[in-house]
Amino acid sequence: MEKFDLLIRGATLPGRGERDIGIRDGKIVKIAERVEGEAKEVINAKGKLAFPTFANMHTHISMTLLRGLGADLPLMDWLQKVIWRLEERFVSPEFVRDGALLGIVEAIRSGTTLFMDMYFFEEVLAEVCESVGIRAGLGFGILDFPTKVAKSPEEYIKRAREFIQKVKGSKLVFPVVCPHAPYTCSPKTLLMAKELALEHDLLLHIHVAETRAEVEKIKEQYGKTPVLHLESIGFLGDNVLCAHMVWTTEEEREVIRERGVKVAHCPESNLKLASGIAPVPDYVRRGITVCLGTDGAASNDNLNMLEELSTCAKLHKGANLDARAIDAKTALDIATVNGFKTARIKAGKIEEGYEADIMLLDTNRPEFQPLYDPVAQLVYSASSESIDTVVCAGRVLMEKRELKTIDEKEVYAKAKLWREKISSALY
Ligand SMILES: [Zn+2]
Repeated sequence: MEKFDLLIRGATLPGRGERDIGIRDGKIVKIAERVEGEAKEVINAKGKLAFPTFANMHTHISMTLLRGLGADLPLMDWLQKVIWRLEERFVSPEFVRDGALLGIVEAIRSGTTLFMDMYFFEEVLAEVCESVGIRAGLGFGILDFPTKVAKSPEEYIKRAREFIQKVKGSKLVFPVVCPHAPYTCSPKTLLMAKELALEHDLLLHIHVAETRAEVEKIKEQYGKTPVLHLESIGFLGDNVLCAHMVWTTEEEREVIRERGVKVAHCPESNLKLASGIAPVPDYVRRGITVCLGTDGAASNDNLNMLEELSTCAKLHKGANLDARAIDAKTALDIATVNGFKTARIKAGKIEEGYEADIMLLDTNRPEFQPLYDPVAQLVYSASSESIDTVVCAGRVLMEKRELKTIDEKEVYAKAKLWREKISSALY
């Protein structure tokens, strides 16, 4: 008799009807109307829709402790007057751990099993992710100016290199090289980061062309727009993931297509910080890989990928006066398989041979009644409250809305303590 670690019985797969899903060693090994076999764990998924989980491709998860601060400010004021000031004072290994756990609670509750993070003390975050059982691509933010973690670009690179050695070969966590942005990193720093990424065959994760002010600043400094500046120094390649990409010219879009650069679209952060609307339908038309990210909870102000997905699908229809600008299926691919593929993980689809990153949604809720079109109703109707079960690499992280690997009460208690400390520094 075939043996499984986990057997999901009777889940409804959109377009395929009710199916059993057999999972072994973290992978989907069998999908059929009836899977015979023994399993260590069985989930009855009758009346539940199965979808691949989300890949949040741009965030700063520990910033969840700064949620909502500096509301209603544009990007540079928000960063310089509020966020950088508070980070300089409060960011520590404890801040990173407690903030990450809070963010991960929210991520799992809204169906996310992979996030790409850029921040400080990422080795603490790596331990948290491995123990909780969530996937993450992690990297130290590399900057030209000094912070608590490093005093010079060379020292940031040294920290990044140590971090790579530490987490390479981990099960769920993989290192990423994260130069912060072209306006905070000199060409020399960017190229040191690129070299480090090439040396270890890693992704490079960077903020690019987020605001019009950034474009003006880079033009003034280097005589070129941000993407052309990065191209001119030889930074771009198919291992580069650019977050935001709101302000790009036609010429720049052709360059990123040719170079195989991936885009992490963060619609809600771009709206909240008044940065603008990225030309995502045009990127998709050109065949550029677009993924989805929430950005940090301090500029969103949540880490809910289901909401982000819905915003993405609707925003571009309104902005382009075209109901087909981004359809539900394209939006779902952007939030799932495109992200996993960029992270070089075979997940984001419920197919045999894929990683078992699956969520089950309860259809016994108003937004799924009557149920005509599961994909459209996921994108346009569902709330994350309907996400009942989340499985990451074959491990059940949430079942019946109950988290299995995190003590939620303790996480909230820590968040309250941080609120007391941080709020006393605000006024
Ligand atoms: Zn960001």
